[in-house]
Amino acid sequence: MPVISAKEISKIYETADATPVLSGVSLDIAKGESVAIIGKSGSGKSTFMHILATLDKPTTGSLEIDGADALKLSSRALDSLRNRKFGFVFQQFFLNGRDTSLDNVALPLVIAGVPLGERRRKALEMLTAVGLSEQAKMLAANLSGGQKQRLVIARALVTDPEVIFADEPTGNLDTENGKIVTDLLFGLQKEKGITLVIVTHDTDLAKLCDRVVHIKDGRIVA
Ligand code: ADP
Ligand code: MG
Repeated sequence: MPVISAKEISKIYETADATPVLSGVSLDIAKGESVAIIGKSGSGKSTFMHILATLDKPTTGSLEIDGADALKLSSRALDSLRNRKFGFVFQQFFLNGRDTSLDNVALPLVIAGVPLGERRRKALEMLTAVGLSEQAKMLAANLSGGQKQRLVIARALVTDPEVIFADEPTGNLDTENGKIVTDLLFGLQKEKGITLVIVTHDTDLAKLCDRVVHIKDGRIVA
């Protein structure tokens, strides 16, 4: 059974022209695989990934997560599902600059109700894994771009997610930090069997994935 199964997804934003952003897109994602979603800017990649990750709802179509209908869940049940199963690595970092690195990484554990001591231990373990243990007490705002992206990865991983969704994870990074981030993501996929869903227009990054899905004008093309 696929972890995520999307069938005939369409999305129309309620804007003036109401052109479909996605039209009849279907995709099954197996546990442990890495899938790159590639396409030009504006082709609908992020919209599709947000729908796969239950962050947005399709206009029509179906979405199953572990065989269960995700479109029937309440927003509260979806929050809990995302917190338990998914990790997010988005380009807009959504870090809290006025909190320390440690507190940023520990936040998903606060939401999950994990006790303080365990939160600190796990957050520090993750900071160490991404090479930021020295920066644990620094405010997130004071980190460099590459460090912020690694911090986002540490935060995405701290809950031991089954699936990581990454939207242009190397988009803002120089070559060196891009490689660090890429090595981290694929290392995890291999070591822990994490499923990776990566939106990118970087063909080198896409080549590292088990499978590449091309989106053009809101449709999957061969
Ligand atoms: P990509 O990630 O491939 O660059 P997006 O999924 O972000 O593409 O956007 C696809 C299209 O949908 C674009 O034309 C974009 O302007 C439009 N779009 C994205 N989000 C919204 C929104 N919230 N409201 C209206 N239009 C949107
Ligand atoms: Mg995008």
